[in-house]
Amino acid sequence: MTHTELLKKYAEFAVEIGVNPQKNQTLIINCDVMNADFARACAEVAYAKGAREVVVHYGDENLSRIKMDRTALDVLTDVKPYIERSYLDYAESEGGACVLHIISPNPEIYKGLDGTKVDKAGIARRSALKNWRSYTMNDRVQWCIVAVPSAPWASKIFPGFTEQEAVEKLWKTIFDVCRVTNGDPVGEWKEHIAKMCKWRDHLNSLHLDRIHMQSGNGTDLVIGLADDHVWEGAQSHTPEGYRFIANIPTEEVFTAPHKDRVNGVVKGTKPYVYNGSLIENFSVTFKDGKVTEYSATSGQELLGMLLDTDEGARHIGEIALVPVSSPINKANVLFYNTLFDENAACHIAFGAGYPGTVKGGTSMSKEQLLEKGVNDSVVHEDVMVGAADTQITGYTKDGQAVEIFKNGQWAF
Ligand code: ZN
Ligand code: ZN
Repeated sequence: MTHTELLKKYAEFAVEIGVNPQKNQTLIINCDVMNADFARACAEVAYAKGAREVVVHYGDENLSRIKMDRTALDVLTDVKPYIERSYLDYAESEGGACVLHIISPNPEIYKGLDGTKVDKAGIARRSALKNWRSYTMNDRVQWCIVAVPSAPWASKIFPGFTEQEAVEKLWKTIFDVCRVTNGDPVGEWKEHIAKMCKWRDHLNSLHLDRIHMQSGNGTDLVIGLADDHVWEGAQSHTPEGYRFIANIPTEEVFTAPHKDRVNGVVKGTKPYVYNGSLIENFSVTFKDGKVTEYSATSGQELLGMLLDTDEGARHIGEIALVPVSSPINKANVLFYNTLFDENAACHIAFGAGYPGTVKGGTSMSKEQLLEKGVNDSVVHEDVMVGAADTQITGYTKDGQAVEIFKNGQWAF
């Protein structure tokens, strides 16, 4: 297939399986101006599916850098209400809305700028969009994140190639790991989703109390699970029953740890990018759910900054299981982006948990969720901790041990 044909297939997959706009629904697309061609391809598919309107919010990464550098912090943190209204006005109106984020992350966009400023601006923006974020965090609307290459991103991943070669290599890698290369991503994803649902449903049938994760690198972590936790994965559903995939690609089955019942040591197995900089070879110790010690061979200060964001940042809100056979792991490429990298290995997330990972959680208050053990924070940062020899044993409430992962793979 030609590149143009594959691109069209990728757009079909992102819209049909990813965000799945319904007849009469508004599709909001967030996209950088440099990816306008992909936004247009997605809009075509959405209208063909009966979308009421496609509204595109164009951003400009290079302008974002200029703005971050040249704007005063108090101006950056004064996020105007119209930005949140640009989502809520559609979500609250007839037919409702869904949102597709087309990203082409440049991991070094803010390199050399004041890290604290970048951090504070990001937190202010997230806080100002809190009401809208509660729509996506609670799966009240379909939402999906899909990535397309950019020259700076591709060059970061494939140094030593020309910009054009790097972009071509990244397109090929994305098409491979997103199951687009063979020309039938919609079909291949239906099959993949069915398999993930089987693993997820089996975990839910076990009613586990905790899991124990061990690897030869020194990871030895007992993760108590939140009360009434639910394993999620593959697909999500809105209250109306509209299915969607929040992250493309996805290989994870995940749930909510109990924020106060995590104990032991966990080692990072892949570099992790936070605010554009790398944190490598970290080691984190938990006591009663809280990080008590941490270190990293690089980015240790940055890791400290992340953990000190707020009280919840020192606890975890997600545990996700990903087999080493994942196409992202097999591609053996560091994408410098969580969307892909988190799907290469088992991971935990510092910060907020997803309400949908406990029974009835999406209609619970923050206090009710905390009572179940679901963590709260303004951050949610996934860090990779799975290794090729990872063993995971689950313990049921009546004390039975069940093998879940053997040598980095699903044991059932
Ligand atoms: Zn995850
Ligand atoms: Zn996560």
